[in-house]
Amino acid sequence: MSTYVVGVSGGIGSGKTTVTNLFAELGIDIIDADVIAREVVAPQTLGLNAIVAKLGQDILDNHGHLNRALLRQLVFTQPDLKEWLNQLLHPLIREQMQKQTQGASSPYCILSVPLLVENQGYKTVDRVLIVDVSEATQLQRTVLRDNSNVEQISAIMRAQASREQRLAVADDVIENEGSEQELIEKVAQLHQLYLSLAESA
Ligand code: ADP
Repeated sequence: MSTYVVGVSGGIGSGKTTVTNLFAELGIDIIDADVIAREVVAPQTLGLNAIVAKLGQDILDNHGHLNRALLRQLVFTQPDLKEWLNQLLHPLIREQMQKQTQGASSPYCILSVPLLVENQGYKTVDRVLIVDVSEATQLQRTVLRDNSNVEQISAIMRAQASREQRLAVADDVIENEGSEQELIEKVAQLHQLYLSLAESA
């Protein structure tokens, strides 16, 4: 069981997934908050049942899955609904994260949380690693990856914490302006650091 938890965060397109994949290749268990956020509203879960009880069957698609686009639209126009959803889902997500970190078997584990800063999750982990790039790089890489447009990605970036806010809570920073090869070296260095921190924790 690993009790030492490294929280990894960064803005959209900063390279979180690329970085956590490299830790996974070194045998480290990755717990992904985005995956958990989808799991807690999968069919037949307490989360989805509560949403259907509140909003009706229309919130489901033809396959009985949550219609995320519709929910996003409703939340956008109804701030109370957003609050209600947060109160329902955050405890479920937290509980799953805890279960999965406690069940991890690598010497330390990584908790990948896009909104670690926004939701104050940095307070609950042992170490915070921020993946950081300039806003221009963030925009360029995300537009390329998602085949989306600059306006859409800029809007998401504006809704997220700023670089400064993220860096303010960082114990370690991976600056990801260089090549993916450089990233491998930085991850290998941090891996050694985390192994020793976990051992002496
Ligand atoms: P996040 O998970 O933070 O949204 P990703 O890891 O998906 O970010 O990275 C965003 C995009 O940038 C992906 O297409 C990824 O392959 C690419 N990328 C990440 N790091 C680098 C790098 N150092 N050089 C070039 N492209 C990169």
